[in-house]
Amino acid sequence: MKRTKIVCTIGPASEKPATLEKMISAGMNVARLNMSHGDYNWNSRVISNLRAIEKKTGKPIAIIVDLQGSKARIGELGVRSYELRVGQKIIFTTGNSILITHNSITHNFKIPIAVPNFHKYVKKGAHLLIADGTIECVVERVTGKDIHARVILGGELKSHKGIAIAGGSLPLPSITSKDRKDIAWSKTQDIDFVALSFVKKAEDVLALRKLMLRKLSFRTEAELPGIKIIVKIETREAVHNFEEILRVCDGVMIARGDLALATSPEEVPLIQKELIEKCRRRAVPVIVATEMLASMERAPRPTRAEASDVANAVIDHTDAVMLSGESATGAYPIETVRIMSAIIQKTEKSRFDDLSIGGEIHHGNPEEETALLAAMQARTEEAKAIVAGTVTGHTARLLSRYRSEVELIIGTPFTRVLRQINLSWGVRPFLLPEVATRKELEEKLIAQAHASGFKKGSKIVIVSSDHPAPHAQSFAVVKTL
Ligand code: ATP
Ligand code: MG
Ligand code: MG
Repeated sequence: MKRTKIVCTIGPASEKPATLEKMISAGMNVARLNMSHGDYNWNSRVISNLRAIEKKTGKPIAIIVDLQGSKARIGELGVRSYELRVGQKIIFTTGNSILITHNSITHNFKIPIAVPNFHKYVKKGAHLLIADGTIECVVERVTGKDIHARVILGGELKSHKGIAIAGGSLPLPSITSKDRKDIAWSKTQDIDFVALSFVKKAEDVLALRKLMLRKLSFRTEAELPGIKIIVKIETREAVHNFEEILRVCDGVMIARGDLALATSPEEVPLIQKELIEKCRRRAVPVIVATEMLASMERAPRPTRAEASDVANAVIDHTDAVMLSGESATGAYPIETVRIMSAIIQKTEKSRFDDLSIGGEIHHGNPEEETALLAAMQARTEEAKAIVAGTVTGHTARLLSRYRSEVELIIGTPFTRVLRQINLSWGVRPFLLPEVATRKELEEKLIAQAHASGFKKGSKIVIVSSDHPAPHAQSFAVVKTL
């Protein structure tokens, strides 16, 4: 069984329930819906399909709603695609775009940019990177709202693709009016995480949290654990302010596509390692995203470099790896998940991803000490599993960060928490109705160990706490089944 989790972006290639079900049995643990694409109806339908499959298979699936944020994008082209050739002179505009088609040839085409003031932030000589840098233009002059440019790297331009200024940053708001609408919508949906794009500082996260909490009308926070916030690290500012961002978020996505445009490609591998290490030390789940198996959008097999990229993310100890276009619009969504799972499993069986327990993790409170004790006992006693209960999911994340070789079987009374901890490395969550005493909790945890197939005579470590939390005392005890 694989321990590193897989996040799949859902799109037209994977929307069918039968496809989703096969992706889940191939190893998908988390679904991502990108609010930059797909309307509310489409997204709601995918959510309810996923929930139906979850019910049918009994496998929890966390759902991330990924907010578009302030990404500068190409507007609506009105044509399926538009070929940009090297050397071609083109005009981008933040004003009216003109489209004249004559004898199926498009003339006088001004490419719309869907950011009102974009023209104010580009100067002559600036490089514009489109669709994650697969198309590149150099600016020759700016007149009014028109940006005259020359293509230096050609390709098929499509509507709504991202456009960035190389190495630059746009002073755009962290939460747009579209995001506000999407946030209001997501609160009505059965989802588990929202992801905030183009985060720059901790205040961006706090602003989103405020919006998420406002008017949670139907239930109180205590009854319904909240939707958690994942920050997408894809700006230079976010890398710089990472420590403070990490303190206020619930999860991190290393969005390497835009990150490479805002920094440089050679910086990304080291930023990835740095960020994963910081997240693991703080017990915050982290996702490595973008182009992991990109060539599988069109081919049934990955390149060697891609296979290595997935393996190396596992060796970096990430919680999860992500698929974007491969699962959203690619030709082989199921096969891609299958291959990603195979690479993960192979790597995890090796010694290269192994960790010594507790190294360089600060253990500041009793809960953290109990988790450390459980991980150490599991190793020294050669236990088969750590079995624990959690209300908020915190205990699950504290246990996950040691990347223990033993199984982590973790029960929680809340469906949403069950799904949220499914993003964390190695966690096998199960639904555990709330109990009144520690003794009852331990009995239930032992019963689950039996149900999970551990034989009589095998050792497990039980992590439990006095009820009710908070200020509960927690315990880690070794038990022979
Ligand atoms: P972001 O920068 O937010 O990650 P993106 O445009 O790079 O956005 P991905 O989520 O990485 O997009 O998905 C890759 C591609 O898959 C998109 O560019 C888009 O063409 C397609 N896609 C994703 N989700 C959908 C959807 N719901 N409907 C249609 N196409 C989609
Ligand atoms: Mg992106
Ligand atoms: Mg190993």
